[in-house]
Amino acid sequence: MALKVLRKKKVSSRAKKLPLILAYDLGGTKVSVGVVDSAGKILAEIREPVVIEKGKAAVLNQLVLLGKNFIRDFPSIERAGIASAGPLDPEKGVLLDPTNFTSEQGSWGAVPIASILSRRLKLPVTLENDAAAAILAEHWMGAARNHDNAIILTLGTGLGIGVIANGQLVRAGQMMHPEGGHVIIGYGDRTAPCGCGNFGCAEAYLSGRNFTRRARTRFGDSELSTKDIADLARKRDPRALAAFEEYALQMASALHNFAVLYSPEIVIFTGSFAAASDLFLKQTKVHLEKLLERRRIGKDLLPKLVISCLHNNAGLLGGAYVALQSREHELKA
Ligand SMILES: [Zn+2]
Repeated sequence: MALKVLRKKKVSSRAKKLPLILAYDLGGTKVSVGVVDSAGKILAEIREPVVIEKGKAAVLNQLVLLGKNFIRDFPSIERAGIASAGPLDPEKGVLLDPTNFTSEQGSWGAVPIASILSRRLKLPVTLENDAAAAILAEHWMGAARNHDNAIILTLGTGLGIGVIANGQLVRAGQMMHPEGGHVIIGYGDRTAPCGCGNFGCAEAYLSGRNFTRRARTRFGDSELSTKDIADLARKRDPRALAAFEEYALQMASALHNFAVLYSPEIVIFTGSFAAASDLFLKQTKVHLEKLLERRRIGKDLLPKLVISCLHNNAGLLGGAYVALQSREHELKA
């Protein structure tokens, strides 16, 4: 399959701030690779479909090839940061059988992606969960810049959540990332199978891919795209509107759960499905206000809901950010 380049840009690199970072945002459908300077300026970027179906060796080759092209163009690249869909172990740099990385040969198992890329690119490589990377980028230069308590939801092939509380990235136990997409909000709901093997996970309703899958069932039409369904909703088609109403309800349930756990001041939406936010955000807020009614007394724990202003680059910028952080730690050590 010839890979289709969705976007490639190059801007003048004269004003670049060293060091330069090779950043990856690896999802279940697309991969973005870019060169980012230490001020968070993207100097070059390419986005293309990721060859998940061909298996891990093919994907690793794809990442190496893309990386080497940029290293040739920008020889001052010092290190690389990968923001990837999880689960993964950020400390060890290992992918832990990612939910949405299933190839013709089955699921991937554990892949020490950081050490493999480090060896092949001859650079130090840092790995981070894509939603964790995204909230770090938002805190660095986006909507969470002035908030020390913030959550990001990445709405793409899967549903990722990244949390900052009291100014710090929130980890689960054992330095793992909190896999908020797999919190069960519809126990035993056989209409909502999740890639993780369970039913009724938040991701099974709220990822862009699963929204579309559920809406197609409603229409009895397996060919409809996400954009078709959004266009129908904007024309007030009742089945499309019902699909978005269900989505808003489930989103409010999930946000309620995240709000009572983490008390964010702001919730940021990113990922390809965030483009349909005009069709679900207002209703989500109505339902969430109801669910959090008694959490607004004394201290108002209803978060603001906003769309990322980082143009779908939060993951990529977060990949660069974690690489810059690990460089700083090494310099201090
Ligand atoms: Zn799940």
